[in-house]
Amino acid sequence: MRVHNFSAGPAVLPEEVLKEVQNELLDYRGEGLSVMEMSHRSATFQAIIDDAMATMKKLMNLGDDYDVLFLQGGASTQFYMIPLNFCPEGKTANYINTGAWSTKALKEAKKIGKKMHVAATSEDKDFTYIPKDFELSENPAYLHITTNNTIRGTEFHFEPNVPDDVPLIADMSSNFLSRPLNFKKYAVMYGGAQKNIGPAGVTFVIIRKDMKEKINSGLPTMMDYKTHLDKGSMFNTPPTFGIYVVGKVLHWIEKKGGLEALEKINIEKANYVYDILDNSDFYRGTVEKEDRSLMNIPFRLPTEELEKKFIAEAAEKGMIGLKGHRSVGGCRASLYNSLPMKAAQDLAEFMLDFEKKNR
Ligand SMILES: *Cc1c(COP(=O)(O)O)cnc(C)c1O
Repeated sequence: MRVHNFSAGPAVLPEEVLKEVQNELLDYRGEGLSVMEMSHRSATFQAIIDDAMATMKKLMNLGDDYDVLFLQGGASTQFYMIPLNFCPEGKTANYINTGAWSTKALKEAKKIGKKMHVAATSEDKDFTYIPKDFELSENPAYLHITTNNTIRGTEFHFEPNVPDDVPLIADMSSNFLSRPLNFKKYAVMYGGAQKNIGPAGVTFVIIRKDMKEKINSGLPTMMDYKTHLDKGSMFNTPPTFGIYVVGKVLHWIEKKGGLEALEKINIEKANYVYDILDNSDFYRGTVEKEDRSLMNIPFRLPTEELEKKFIAEAAEKGMIGLKGHRSVGGCRASLYNSLPMKAAQDLAEFMLDFEKKNR
């Protein structure tokens, strides 16, 4: 039996997709081999990657002015590829710091010797909110944000208003394709697939075409976006099997009705948990209401002992992944796209029952 998987990532995938993959595992559409065993230079794989790229752009309503890359190395590699490629001499990399992941991103910019400026931060209140204003440095190379803070459970519900000549760059790892965003406002969007759109091992990077001229010259081949843009993400062997699964998840999103439909479902799912947090003095949400995330919901119970008991009893009932990130403790329910509504309903029911028995 499958569990309800509330893990922050790698995370739940749609059961329909897993079954399709299972069906095609030994013999992909009569070709007599698995996608795993197939040359990335074959026409069959080319069709798979082309379709995944096109479907992603279609879901995002993006046209020919954007390119999609599927790379390796995780979002963490993008933390230094972004400043390496897009912050030239004499300019400053700007960051809005909203938690652990953005802190890691801005540290990388510094580490590779770039001038770095924190344009806004919510560190003063322990990253429990999203700053509404920011102040850019002189000569900003770009402004980088983290659209959803996986550990803290906050999410940007607006796009920062950057001047036209300042590219907006975003780590969208944990809320990618969970709802329609104003994607055209972003010059670069990236993330690890393993939160919302596929298995670990694939990093998606979406780059607006005009950014190609801004890429610094003389970079190591694999660290240079130009390499990957020029070769359609096939300079070297891409993560073929992961890309194939991502393609299937993207079609699953399409079948659900696209991002507008998913947003409605995701709001309904999140509200099962938020309604309890809002109406209880037993459970406590940890962030500002207006900034809270649809994807990751951290919460506390009255004591750490009760939190341990809660997590253990939930696991006995087939609900796993509810432990908060080790850096903040407590509990966290991640309700990504692929998590079925039933999982959120069952969690809510368990929460109410647990409160009754333990208050
Ligand atoms: C998980 C996560 C990362 C790290 O992704 P990796 O693919 O493991 O490098 C970065 N940013 C955010 C917002 C995340 O949720």
